[in-house]
Amino acid sequence: MRQIALECGYTAASVRERLYCRPFGQEHGPMAGLLIYTAASDSEGTLGGLVQLGQPVTLGRQIQHALESMRLCGSDPLCSEHSPVADGRGVHGACCHACLFAPETSCERGNRFLDRTTLVGTFASKAAEFFNIS
Ligand SMILES: [Zn+2]
Repeated sequence: MRQIALECGYTAASVRERLYCRPFGQEHGPMAGLLIYTAASDSEGTLGGLVQLGQPVTLGRQIQHALESMRLCGSDPLCSEHSPVADGRGVHGACCHACLFAPETSCERGNRFLDRTTLVGTFASKAAEFFNIS
């Protein structure tokens, strides 16, 4: 979402993201989908480029850039060494305001359960990532 906001000109607070997924074995599963949209009713809602960024060739490049930018955070190594605590406020892993947190208006889950180490390798973890972008 941050990468798309940088590219299309919307502010990060006016772009929202919703993930759709169903595991194998569930009706209509397995499936995964991503919706990035803006619901801004002001002049920002008329800016162009968001649909164009969703085209397969362009979207692939945007995802690659987003994954590359997640490898480092301005708060590393502190950010990458953070561990989630299930019963406290820190329910996210390697994540902070400098890297993954979205504006409050954009994240319906309150920036909980975010963790860079599940997507890309970081200083503290290189074995749990889903994407290998070396
Ligand atoms: Zn961070």
